[in-house]
Amino acid sequence: MDGYAVLLSDVPRPGVWLAERASTVGAGDAPPEPIAPGEAVRVMTGAPLPPNATAVVPVEQCRREGGRVRLETVPTAGAHLRRQGESIAAGTVLLSIGRRLAGTDIALAAMAGTDPAPVFRRPRITIAATGNEIVPVSARPAPGQLRDSNGPMLAALCRERGWPAKLAGRVADEPGRVERLFADAGREEDLLLTSGGVSAGDFDLLPRAAEKAGFETVFHGVSMRPGKPVAFARRGGTLWLGLPGNPVSAAVCFQLFAREVAGRLEGDARPGAPLITARLTRGLKAAGPREIYRDALWETAGGECRVEPLSSLGSHDLGAFAKANALIRIPPGSPALEAGAIVECLVIREGGWPPEPDRAT
Ligand code: AMP
Ligand code: MG
Repeated sequence: MDGYAVLLSDVPRPGVWLAERASTVGAGDAPPEPIAPGEAVRVMTGAPLPPNATAVVPVEQCRREGGRVRLETVPTAGAHLRRQGESIAAGTVLLSIGRRLAGTDIALAAMAGTDPAPVFRRPRITIAATGNEIVPVSARPAPGQLRDSNGPMLAALCRERGWPAKLAGRVADEPGRVERLFADAGREEDLLLTSGGVSAGDFDLLPRAAEKAGFETVFHGVSMRPGKPVAFARRGGTLWLGLPGNPVSAAVCFQLFAREVAGRLEGDARPGAPLITARLTRGLKAAGPREIYRDALWETAGGECRVEPLSSLGSHDLGAFAKANALIRIPPGSPALEAGAIVECLVIREGGWPPEPDRAT
């Protein structure tokens, strides 16, 4: 505080006059000599204080006149002075392992002189979109073809998390081509993230090709909707996560599995999407035997969270899904839920509410 460092014992009442020390102490100056009885030391914000100072009186509460200062108020003990260690005591753990570092954490590390800070390496991720029907974004799809939306989506979702992701391009549904993908995996990536080719069709070649290339299947198929065909395998330190090709399934499985896997690779102790509870704005049908993840919009209103299920046509309905900022988790066998029921939701996106007005552009 810009003001005067004083001894409380010199200020029994307002209106006391003290002798002003000739030199002012500014931030960055060497620590000054102790205050003599009857003396006030002019100090600026951030200045080291005389070792025996017991309060600082702000300049606004002082009147300066010919080498003397009059203090208009009586300060409380310790007013406007900061003691070493009062914010963080010696021996306090500032940052623990597994914490995703925010800007304020970096400030703590910097304050403590941690340079370099020991951190995990970011997971290197390669993304490959499989499917004979897939064409590059810049192409005009012929009948039967469609543009690769999963590749760019997954790359962007990775980068949102701070993970460098490389787009390996499109991979045809041909055994040789798919096997080469797995044979090469691990050279430049910790995690191979693929889209398509993991369900039960004649051209879903990935799980077998992965095993042929020495990958050990951890799981293939999860009792959930969407995302049932998702596959996960490893070969040494190289991981493969096979996301289904349907855009909504790929996006949901990214949130549930890719975030978990890549998050753990970078040492994150709490890697998944944040979980909240919210009140349904409208009812939901009973669930079947599979766990359901339903795209939704959540917001806080009147001091509580509420969530609105979107009208989705299914796992291809990117039009509906792209508006979502949450996934409602409906446990297997759940009965029909009425409006007002409390449900669990994964938060998958910041913002998104209220829905943006449609614009023609
Ligand atoms: P799959 O999982 O390979 O059986 O694909 C399921 C559906 O997702 C098919 O209708 C595909 O055309 C579609 N699909 C697959 N890959 C992509 C992609 N990269 N971008 C957009 N749609 C895709
Ligand atoms: Mg396919």
